[in-house]
Amino acid sequence: VRPQTFSALQDLDLRGAALDHASLKAVLPRPELNFATAAEAVESIIRRVRTDGFSALSELAEQFDGVQQDHTRVPAEAMERALEELDPTVRAGLEESIARARVFAAAQVPGETRVEYGAGATVTQRWVPVRRVGLYVPGGLAVYPSSVIMNAVPALAAGVGSLAIASPPQKEFGGLPHPAILAAAQLLGVREVHAIGGAQAIAAFAYGVPAGAGMDPGLAIEPVDVVTGPGNLFVATAKRLVKGVVGIDAEAGPTEIAILADATANPAFIAADMVSQAEHDPNAAAVLVTDSPELAEAVREALENQCATTKHSERVRIALGGNQSAIILVDDVAAGIAVCNVYAAEHLEIHTANAAADAARITAAGAVFVGPDAPVSLGDYCAGSNHVLPTSGTAAFASGLNVNTFLKAIQVIDYDRSALAAVAPHVIALANAEDLPAHGDAVAIRFP
Ligand code: NAD
Repeated sequence: VRPQTFSALQDLDLRGAALDHASLKAVLPRPELNFATAAEAVESIIRRVRTDGFSALSELAEQFDGVQQDHTRVPAEAMERALEELDPTVRAGLEESIARARVFAAAQVPGETRVEYGAGATVTQRWVPVRRVGLYVPGGLAVYPSSVIMNAVPALAAGVGSLAIASPPQKEFGGLPHPAILAAAQLLGVREVHAIGGAQAIAAFAYGVPAGAGMDPGLAIEPVDVVTGPGNLFVATAKRLVKGVVGIDAEAGPTEIAILADATANPAFIAADMVSQAEHDPNAAAVLVTDSPELAEAVREALENQCATTKHSERVRIALGGNQSAIILVDDVAAGIAVCNVYAAEHLEIHTANAAADAARITAAGAVFVGPDAPVSLGDYCAGSNHVLPTSGTAAFASGLNVNTFLKAIQVIDYDRSALAAVAPHVIALANAEDLPAHGDAVAIRFP
């Protein structure tokens, strides 16, 4: 009989269960995010922004954010004032976060790849930043100045010349984004910030918004090449829908934490880390994978205590009680690793006796946090790593935001006549085999 402990979190007993990829994929919990329903609303928002420009943006700001707007661009004075008035402890936190993120982003910048296939024959790959990027910073249930840093630092390290930020207008701040977001942008030298939230921000970036009649032409929003950033279901859906018109980073939707733990783990730490991610969003997922039924019960008890006092307890209870959250029992840590590799969590914490060795066996996760002293909150703000990470299992194929998100690889082919001559018969043979003889002729004509 289970003691009177946190009962909202569902149990999933996989002891003795098949651990192959397909079987696990079928049973692991996922949020029931209704992309199909959101897509209808989001398609209509995108259409309105494309057709009606600023008037659509201001109608949507009134509808979703309850503010009146005649333009979206945050004035320079408001940005300066936000930084001047920023609480010094928050400023110090942002500065530390920026400093650490910059070091890691700078180290990520890839070098040129150059191969010489004999004298006079080289192929080089060089990396070129995209011209302009649109960075989304959420601001619905919570505000995320940290996401300004996570978006902008890798873009700046990549060498992107033009950066624009969008974040929802806040009624209590005169229709501007939260001042901490403006201050973070100011600290990073990003001067173009728009008070636009949700799907309409993604549409404005992807398609651009010309200045309306009688408006200062400088208030137009120029289209971007890449849109990045986390957000709720509407933001994630909008990014899916504009992909192809612009590049996007991974799908960074409602947050997830998975924790792999054995009997050596501290249940209070685990509960605290589950609560910390659940407070983002009622759709957030928290999943504990353990081979210890005793630890599972201790975590339930700790959750009960912590949920009682945590500020956003209602949101946390909904998230932990949803179908997307669970305690999963497995036979041993190896089985737990198999489960985690199929689940492909946005954030994966490892609280086992051999945490580093177990972490090395993880093949799918947005980010891995090793041992009891590397909580996800550290990575959310100040580890140096990026917190914009793939969710909903997309970590199986996608990566967290990084410098490469903002770079294109261009391959440069430089062969001279004798190098071409050396390979000409092969080109001609392959061209003929594909019944594209003009391809062969284009080589032969150089050797009359
Ligand atoms: P948000 O800025 O993403 O969304 C707010 C906007 O959503 C509003 O301005 C409005 O325009 C739009 N919206 C709200 N209801 C709507 C409706 N019914 N129809 C159409 N549009 C609507 O802020 P949020 O809601 O607080 O969500 C932030 C999300 O970002 C959370 O889910 C959090 O977990 C996630 N997040 C993820 C990561 C990551 O890397 N995966 C990092 C940080 C935050």
